[in-house]
Amino acid sequence: MVLPAPGPRSIGPFQVGPLAFGCWRFIDDVGSAAHLVETAVESGMNLIDTADVYGLDFKGVGFGAAEEILGKVFAARPGLRDRVILATKGGISLPLPYDSSPGYLITACEESLRRLGVDVIDLYQIHRPDMFTHPAEVASALTKLRASGKVREVGVSNYTVPQVEALAASLDFPLATHQPEFSAMHLDPMRDGTLDQCMRLGLTPLAYSPLGGGRLATGQGVRGELLTMLDRIAQREQVERTSVALAFVLAHPSRPVAIVGTQKASRLTKAVQALKVRLDRRDVYDILQASEGVPLP
Ligand code: NAP
Repeated sequence: MVLPAPGPRSIGPFQVGPLAFGCWRFIDDVGSAAHLVETAVESGMNLIDTADVYGLDFKGVGFGAAEEILGKVFAARPGLRDRVILATKGGISLPLPYDSSPGYLITACEESLRRLGVDVIDLYQIHRPDMFTHPAEVASALTKLRASGKVREVGVSNYTVPQVEALAASLDFPLATHQPEFSAMHLDPMRDGTLDQCMRLGLTPLAYSPLGGGRLATGQGVRGELLTMLDRIAQREQVERTSVALAFVLAHPSRPVAIVGTQKASRLTKAVQALKVRLDRRDVYDILQASEGVPLP
């Protein structure tokens, strides 16, 4: 039985494509950065995911650099901001490393707004859980940000299932998203309850590193059986292996969005090939077993 084709996903009131564009590695000059964002949007990736901390690595110039480039792209391309659902994150403050105290989060969000040059962030996410801030305090900061109109929806990233439960219990509005690492080589969210919780609470999963940070493309450090399985399906579907890897992420019933991280426009346009891959139940179980290297009982 062929699994349902991946259609648009909902984030609160917003509709987004099943593929999104991620800005972790976004370090180019404004001209090529604008071309990348426009290519992504034209390819149906209307969710743009960044974070205040992006720019600290990948040859970036420091904290806030990726948001600053995106802000310059919006300034250089009038109308572009309104064509995207803009997602960013806060809560990582090096060398601490994490701070979700209300004072910090509210200032961090205001700084993100300033760097991005926008009035409102569509989706504000806590980047990593701060285990030394009470969830009720995190909730109070998110509630204030939402009530002041600075953010529209809120989400989390890298939270455990109980951490989501605790935060959700302190909010009087629903969390919109959870951003875990999820790919054919990183199946934890299928096993640790993250995706089940997303389905139960109505959160849209935003799968980061859906190509294992590029390893599913290069094959480096990936189990041979998994590469062979993805290649076999890719040959049948007449696409590249990366398209099958993305299609696997999109096939989960929690209806994830896969945040692709390439900084090459040609690879962004190619990523949409994933949407035409037709996986059946046998394919997804073959990929799962090849990934884990153990047959299911
Ligand atoms: P990814 O799509 O798994 O990996 C992207 C990397 O793979 C890039 O370096 C890209 O290189 C390479 N790649 C793609 N296709 C390739 C191909 N055919 N051959 C060789 N290399 C290829 O995603 P990611 O960048 O790790 O993460 C995506 C997004 O998720 C980030 O931008 C960020 O928004 C989000 N993220 C969130 C967290 C979090 O903690 N919440 C953590 C990590 C990432 P090229 O650029 O050269 O194509």
